[in-house]
Amino acid sequence: MRFPRGLTGRGAGATIGKAARAAAKRPALRGAARSYPDETCCGDSVYYLTVKTEFAAAHQLRGYRGKCENLHGHNWKIEVIVKGPDLDKIGMLVDFTEVKAWLRTLIDEQLDHRNLNDLPEFQALNPSAENIAKYLFDGLGNRVPQGVSVDRVTVYETDRCGATYAAQ
Ligand SMILES: [Zn+2]
Repeated sequence: MRFPRGLTGRGAGATIGKAARAAAKRPALRGAARSYPDETCCGDSVYYLTVKTEFAAAHQLRGYRGKCENLHGHNWKIEVIVKGPDLDKIGMLVDFTEVKAWLRTLIDEQLDHRNLNDLPEFQALNPSAENIAKYLFDGLGNRVPQGVSVDRVTVYETDRCGATYAAQ
């Protein structure tokens, strides 16, 4: 899957991408980057930014008939995609470093090197890849700045198997 890359000169030229062209149609608001309170990102083209990381943790799936009912561990791989319609004055949706920091804080404080079944969030819910993806999606959603939203979080148990929780 290919996503549009952030280009330069938001709104300044005629050949720099759909999101920039859409921004150019809003001249009264162009001075206030990421501040379109009367609009959502879903009607226009958007920029996507992807950050990946990983952590190690154990879990067991209650009610599952098979090996995963027993306590076992994974090196979970996480892929986060955030989105937004506008770039800042230096051509960025949001700093990769910021997204990585939000993700690392959530992971280091809550998930890394833990038994996920011990967490309050996973007392009623199983710590499945699907529920971990939603947990990270919701946690990151509370941290992103105005004008940026979490599009999806994918949690991989292995290189070949992952679950995604996404915005509709
Ligand atoms: Zn597992």
